[in-house]
Amino acid sequence: MKGGKAKKCKKCGKRAVVSLKNYKISLCQDCFPPFFERLIERDVKKYRVIRENERVLAAVSGGKDSVALLSALSALSSNFNFHLEALHIDLGIGEYSRRSAEVCRKLCQELGIELNTVRLSEYGFTISDVNTRKVCSVCGNAKRYIFNRFARENGFDVIATGHNADDILANFFKNWLAGNRWWIEKQMPRTEGFDRVVTRIRPLILRTEKENAVYVLTKQLPFLADECPNAPQDRWKEIIYEIEAKIPGFKQNFVRNMFKESKEIPEFRYCSVCGEISTSEICQFCRNVMRYGQIAMVARSSAESSEEVAKKE
Ligand code: AMP
Ligand code: ZN
Repeated sequence: MKGGKAKKCKKCGKRAVVSLKNYKISLCQDCFPPFFERLIERDVKKYRVIRENERVLAAVSGGKDSVALLSALSALSSNFNFHLEALHIDLGIGEYSRRSAEVCRKLCQELGIELNTVRLSEYGFTISDVNTRKVCSVCGNAKRYIFNRFARENGFDVIATGHNADDILANFFKNWLAGNRWWIEKQMPRTEGFDRVVTRIRPLILRTEKENAVYVLTKQLPFLADECPNAPQDRWKEIIYEIEAKIPGFKQNFVRNMFKESKEIPEFRYCSVCGEISTSEICQFCRNVMRYGQIAMVARSSAESSEEVAKKE
């Protein structure tokens, strides 16, 4: 048979189902889910995403990302001591919404988590009534409005969404090009609420689409593979995919650096040799002049002396 040898799981030696280049690890069906959950746990601790005894409302659409979110949070909830419920919004997008709601019901039943449902129609319209090209922005606005209002009116401390590294990066490029620099500051693992705005958390912000997909598949969780029929093709995601293929780890490093505190601007002074701006006593250029100038001098003088020897002979 042609083809490479099947890879083995780094943890248990069984046949691996996934190879993650940026972690340099291959894992089997059984070892991937706990590996993924530990990554979430590490980030939840590191960025203090959830605080003790908080009431967490996870927004679930039925897609792979929010299914991964709910399952991973459910695995964490006992250790971290927080209360977890789910919220699904029925947007009224025909068969797609009907199937999404069905997946959410099944998932919450399997995980033993209470599911809350809000129908957009309760407010007098559905996404099917939106007859302009702005349908995605009307939908996004409706979701954010309902997440916030439902969470506040029902005593939740935080709203969790399933945004992943690919989403954040694609939105980064779109907003950067549109000049919305302020948007970047809001894309943190946790953004504190104020006034009537409830705190938002993004526990999967460093997970890629691929990791989320592998998690729901290896854990055999119900999820809806169909894309929303209104969602346009995302060219940025395709471009990001190409970059990641050439630079493994690019997506996660980029997103991590978006919310890493920036290094302090170093203090500068004047170089004691030449007087130009420098961060050290003698500037890098003068240090290079000294070092390589000396090497050049030695090379010149040895060349000269061998020329003299040749002339004498
Ligand atoms: P999207 O706006 O479709 O990119 O989804 C971003 C996040 O919003 C998802 O990961 C979910 O957490 C949440 N979400 C999207 N659609 C729904 C929905 N119909 N009901 C509840 N939460 C949703
Ligand atoms: Zn294994």
